[in-house]
Amino acid sequence: MATTDQPAKTQAPNAINFSSKSHGMSTVSVHGGEARQKPGDAITDAIFCASTYTFESTQAVIDFIEEKQQREEYGRYGNPNERVVERKLASLEGGEEALLFSSGMAAIVGVLMAKLNSGDEVIFFNECYHRSREFCAKHLSRFGVVTRQVEACNYEAMEAAINKNTKMLISESPTNPHLSVVDLAAFADLGKRHNVDTLIDATLATPFNLRPIEHGIDYVLHSATKYLGGHNDLLAGAIIGSSEKLESVRNLRGIMGPVNSPQNAYLLERGLKTFELRMQRHNDNGQAIAEFLDRHPRIERVYYPGLESHPYYDVARRTMSGFGGLVTFLVKDADWRETADIVDAVKIPRIGPSLGGVETLIEQPLIMSYYECSPEDRASWGIYDNMIRMACGIENTADLIADLEQALSV
Ligand SMILES: *Cc1c(COP(=O)(O)O)cnc(C)c1O
Repeated sequence: MATTDQPAKTQAPNAINFSSKSHGMSTVSVHGGEARQKPGDAITDAIFCASTYTFESTQAVIDFIEEKQQREEYGRYGNPNERVVERKLASLEGGEEALLFSSGMAAIVGVLMAKLNSGDEVIFFNECYHRSREFCAKHLSRFGVVTRQVEACNYEAMEAAINKNTKMLISESPTNPHLSVVDLAAFADLGKRHNVDTLIDATLATPFNLRPIEHGIDYVLHSATKYLGGHNDLLAGAIIGSSEKLESVRNLRGIMGPVNSPQNAYLLERGLKTFELRMQRHNDNGQAIAEFLDRHPRIERVYYPGLESHPYYDVARRTMSGFGGLVTFLVKDADWRETADIVDAVKIPRIGPSLGGVETLIEQPLIMSYYECSPEDRASWGIYDNMIRMACGIENTADLIADLEQALSV
């Protein structure tokens, strides 16, 4: 069964155990993982600018090694600012432990490198973050790991691809940029029946909208660069799961060194304070923009799980509490240039990759992420010339709609 809301394994010194079971999400994101009384009696956490941590005696070193007690040793293994964020994220996600990385990609690479051996196989749903796919195809393959891809949300196809070498099933939910929503109970069940670990990249959902561990998923992955940080001012990644499963990943991270600087971890801690408030507005903006575009005569199709026309509307309604700020749409009868003209005509969203920050961003996937790919590959991945992806920020809904209205009438 799913192990939900286990207390995060390591609590802050003299801290109240803020868990998402006993407290609301903002209470957890403001207070979770933090010490009650802090250095300097400050209300905020101090940023510890240290590469190394000292011991008062040789005996203290021996005690640390033998008892493996919680304290810092050397910056490559983590720092106090990272630990605060790890405890906060574990509490928000309802997981036992969280492990922070310097980026979302570092987290994906870290977990795959720690868990897979030569001859092992992983299976992905085919709608996935471009670089995850590239890491598997170009790099994991060099170490003898086989990656298989099956059609997104096709559980029969995934089951058929499982064999005795399969070690992990991986998907995003919702997927980027098509926003397909995985039936997490079915996905977790597939893993359990075949004794294979399951990993969900829930970057687009965040724990505000989706809690994969409650559905029995083993690993939840986040690019904290997006909604968790929330201000387009940092890169970070996180993986949440059981302490037992994360131990080898933490050990490998300590060797590879993709840790966050204390300053960066503090920025993430600060960004998380307003997590619930920001997500409410991202969800409201996403839903309103999707509905506006769905009614607009120049729009051919809108991909947003909160629209009844979306193929995964029912799964989304059942498993998610909101659908996020990302809206993808196709412009009717437009070639790539006419589509680009709309991107260029908006005045509030800036043109750029990424999502999840307070500033709205807009882009044409063809140009921004798939420019150098062959038309055949793009077609197979469902990336069309007339596709636009808008990542709604927290600006006022009416302003974003008025801006899109004028851009679509140019
Ligand atoms: C951005 C993103 C990543 C990669 O995260 P970085 O922090 O940019 O390394 C992975 N998965 C999804 C779904 C993303 O949106």
